[in-house]
Amino acid sequence: MSKKNGTKQDINLVNLIEKYGNEDKCRAFLEELRWPDGVTCPRCGSKSISRYRDKYVFDCNSCRYQFSVTAGTIFHDSHLPLWKWFLATYMMVESKKGISANQMKRALSVSYKTSWYLCHRIRNAMSDGNPNLLKGIVEVDETYVGGKTKGMGHGYKGNKTIVVGATQRGGEARLQVVDDNGRKTLHQFIRENTMPNTEAIYTDDWPAYNGIADADTRHETINHSQEEWVRGDVHTNSVEGIWSLLKRSIVGSYHKVSTKHLDSYLDELEWRFNNRENPYLFRDTLLKLIKSGNLPYQELVAQ
Ligand SMILES: [Zn+2]
Repeated sequence: MSKKNGTKQDINLVNLIEKYGNEDKCRAFLEELRWPDGVTCPRCGSKSISRYRDKYVFDCNSCRYQFSVTAGTIFHDSHLPLWKWFLATYMMVESKKGISANQMKRALSVSYKTSWYLCHRIRNAMSDGNPNLLKGIVEVDETYVGGKTKGMGHGYKGNKTIVVGATQRGGEARLQVVDDNGRKTLHQFIRENTMPNTEAIYTDDWPAYNGIADADTRHETINHSQEEWVRGDVHTNSVEGIWSLLKRSIVGSYHKVSTKHLDSYLDELEWRFNNRENPYLFRDTLLKLIKSGNLPYQELVAQ
């Protein structure tokens, strides 16, 4: 974590309400985000568009398709006003540790189901479909989430979910749920998330990481089992900082996270972490939302 307090966002709760406190203002902003070069028909691509008198509806002069700014987007939800979407998005990007569906429910005066579904759709839009590969010095580590088993020893991991993470020093993070912490799985994760000529991979002394070095990539280990935590610039403190955020968010905000949804919580954490120095995170998250299709509730609960 290079900056503990993060970068100052270009928006706060007061100007959020001033700028986006009603439907008209939210729609106008979404129109700017969706169509920076002017309103375009989602069906035929025409730019010859008439606006109906009630302002919300457009009519395509070429194919006569009638649409609104939310047509075909995640916002196309019959009962949730846009300003609630905006407020929910703001709360999710602003909170370092994330926000639980229960907190969101109270803040927006909606049902738990609506809140849960809303949080998941925003989270889903945050996932980075095509991330860059990490390079330079990359720290890799695994951690265990959830599944406390009464009566079992501290080291018992049978019921827990394994998460592996990589962070580029001063850069982005990649987090992923994996089936096991064996050599094949960890090596594959590293290969899929780092440049082939990454300068160095720093890990602890877990033997499964052995053999990850090659001609242009060093592998340095810190011997946690020997109580060694830092040796020169060799440490895994950045990735461990993410684990502590993850654990505080699960304990503090989410209470318990089902394994099947853990990957999307990781995407949310990754999105916030990777944008920790982006002052336009709120706008950029709305941009992701307007570009992502809807995620049907049935699909989400069936995953
Ligand atoms: Zn058209």
